[in-house]
Amino acid sequence: MRSTSQNGLRLVWVYPDLLSTYGDQGNVLVVERRARQRGLDVSRLDVRSDQQIPTSGDIYLVGGGEDRPQRLAAERLLRDGGLNRAVSNGAIVFSVCAGYQILGHEFINDLGQRQQGLGLLDVISTRGEGARCVGDVLADIDERLGLPPLTGFENHQGVTHLGPTARPFARVRFGNGNGSGDGFEGAYNDTVFGTYMHGPVMARNPHIADHLLKLALDVNALPPVDDQWYEALRNERIAAATQPA
Ligand code: GLN
Repeated sequence: MRSTSQNGLRLVWVYPDLLSTYGDQGNVLVVERRARQRGLDVSRLDVRSDQQIPTSGDIYLVGGGEDRPQRLAAERLLRDGGLNRAVSNGAIVFSVCAGYQILGHEFINDLGQRQQGLGLLDVISTRGEGARCVGDVLADIDERLGLPPLTGFENHQGVTHLGPTARPFARVRFGNGNGSGDGFEGAYNDTVFGTYMHGPVMARNPHIADHLLKLALDVNALPPVDDQWYEALRNERIAAATQPA
């Protein structure tokens, strides 16, 4: 286990004041709850954008945001450097939409300028020329991860292109995902994940929360928990994605 036994598992919710659209805070709640259901000692730290990012976390969650808060968040994270140091120490990062774009090499900000990201994922985001990507999505997660299909809600203008060292997180069946024409949704490397899926994505896909926990604990399996409510939500949203009104 990466985390120190004295402190248990440490979750860090990055910049709730800037990056927390479409219920993305739910991701922290789901990861925390599923850890507790397994009897794990877990702590949660919410780090606002005027605070320093601790480097001792095990799992960092980064949400989506509107264009201006996204610019401010990227500036502060780059200046802070803590998230990059945490990843060098082996921390896990899961990011959504604006957070995903910030983790890449660059994105287009609200001023129409190319803005430097953290370079934690080998992706670049540009501004899509077409209509904003909005709606339910269904996608097959990269088979190496052994997870069931991904369901989520997307709302973004940015389009993300994968470089050679980023693996596609999923392949889209319905919806847009990265929107770059290659049919991919999200990207990941060893411990850093990015997705366009809101929802919040962990409530729709609790197996992703479990995957992060397994990575953090360095185990192959976790005790099962009751997933009946999650399954009901998954089924409802998969139907919404595949049978649009
Ligand atoms: N501003 C970004 C875009 O439109 C991210 C939006 C979001 O996080 N929902 O691409």
